[in-house]
This record gives sequence, C-alpha cells and structure tokens, in this order.
Amino acid sequence: MSHNPYLSYYLNTMDIKFWVRRRLPELPPSELSLENPVTPTAATHPIETNELLSPTSQTPSPLLAESVQPETLMSPNFPPTQRNSALSPEHFRVQAWQELQQQVATCTACELYQTRTRPVFGTGNRRAQWMFVGEAPGADEDVQGEPFVGRAGKLLTNMLLAIDLPREIAYIANILKCRPPGNRNPQPHEVKCCTPFLTRQIELVQPKVIVALGAVAARFLLDTETEIGKLRGKRFEYQNTGIPLIATYHPAYLLRNPVAKSKSWQDLQLACQMIRDSSAG
Ligand code: SF4
Repeated sequence: MSHNPYLSYYLNTMDIKFWVRRRLPELPPSELSLENPVTPTAATHPIETNELLSPTSQTPSPLLAESVQPETLMSPNFPPTQRNSALSPEHFRVQAWQELQQQVATCTACELYQTRTRPVFGTGNRRAQWMFVGEAPGADEDVQGEPFVGRAGKLLTNMLLAIDLPREIAYIANILKCRPPGNRNPQPHEVKCCTPFLTRQIELVQPKVIVALGAVAARFLLDTETEIGKLRGKRFEYQNTGIPLIATYHPAYLLRNPVAKSKSWQDLQLACQMIRDSSAG
C-alpha cells in the first residue's frame, strides 16, 4: 500500500495533530469527533495518493464530485423553447456558462470595472458537489483572474486537501467579480450589482453543499447581518433550495488568527457530513 506523504502536512496546516480513520466500520459515528482522536494503529491507514487525487478512482470518496444526469442540470429558468429543442440539455448548459462568463468579462455595472485588471469569474468543477464562496478578488487574484491564489488561497487549498478534496474538484467563486481598490470591503451597491452572477453560478453548478468563506459571503447568502462567529458551526439552507449551507471563517482571517483554524476544521467536518447525508439520502 502506498501512503500519501502529504496528508499530515495538510492536517498540520489546519493545526490538526492527529490521524483520522478513513474507514470506521467498528466505530459508531458519535466517536468520530475532535474529542476522540484516533491513535494510529494498524487499522488506521493514511489515504492513498491515488484515492486522494484521482476523481476517477474506482472507489471514489463520497466527498468527491459525482456525475450528474443531464436532465437535472436543466434550469427551470430556461425558456420552454430551449427545453423542447432537439439540442441536448448539456448544449444549453455549456451555452449558459459561456454567456455568463461573457457577461462578467464585459460588465460595467459598478465602478469596480474601472480599476480591475481583470474580472475573476470563478474556477473549478462546474458540476461540483462542493461550492466555496468568498468575498472578492485580492491583488493576486486581480492579476491572475482566478479566485484564491494568494496566501489565503494556498491555505484554502491545504484546508481542502486536509478533507480529501483537491480544489479542482470543487467550484470556487466570490461575491464580487472585481477587486475593490486596496482590498476594502465591498460596498452594498457593488454587492447588489454583482451577486446576480453568483446566483446564476450556484443555479448552474447545483452543489450539494455551499461553504460561505467569511462574513461578507455568509451575510449575502443567508440574507442576514449576524456576525460570522454566530453563523459558523451550524447548518443553514441556501434560499429555500434545499442546498445546505455552512458558514466559516475566511482563510485570510485564519492567517491573521491561526487559533480559529480549529473552528474552521470543525465547520469543514460539518460540511463533509452534509455531503455524506446527501449521498445516503
Ligand atoms: Fe460588474 Fe461585478 Fe465587476 Fe461590478 S464587480 S463591474 S458588478 S462584474
């Protein structure tokens, strides 16, 4: 058996100092908690590298993306003429993504288009089970046109790997598609102008769980002014869609406050449970 040599590094990134069993046939779910870390034994095995990285593994993790039937991808908002067309639903789905991306690329709906280097549309698997939503592009994202590529992005990548989720398996987007100058907080009118793009992305991806990263994302997705510390650690539902939503701290906050990593770890475990529940259901 080949062992993944990197998993302990990813767990250390999250300040998690113990191994967690990947398969626990002899333990009830109640024992799978941070309070009951599993001591490494012969029965505790690290995740194999190919299990961790390959979405096409013959025994894929239930946390990884699953194939979605084309008929489930058709939005009810598509015009009936398109739904009845001889062209496949997949054709219209691809077209919808292209149109949305083009709309963002040429958007001048708020003043941020004047100072952006490039818009940051979103990245990852457009049929993902997991969708992560952050706040807005930073300096690195503004240059590269991709969300979460700076230090906070590297931490997010490692956080996801710690739960056996390569980031390309997930879909990652932001509330705002253009960088606010100086990384200031998004203004309410900017959020109002930009969030229809995110709403459409969620509609197209149809994730099994949404993880809001930070207060700005959590407050918009949950339509609340409650502070992030009181939102995290709980299961919400995204706008009566049945999609579970978990709020947690933004990775940039975790860089400034490493002590909060353990809470983010717990939040990710809760999101994992949402995925398992959806697979079981
Ligand atoms: Fe358009 Fe959003 Fe960029 Fe404003 S932030 S210009 S609404 S894409």
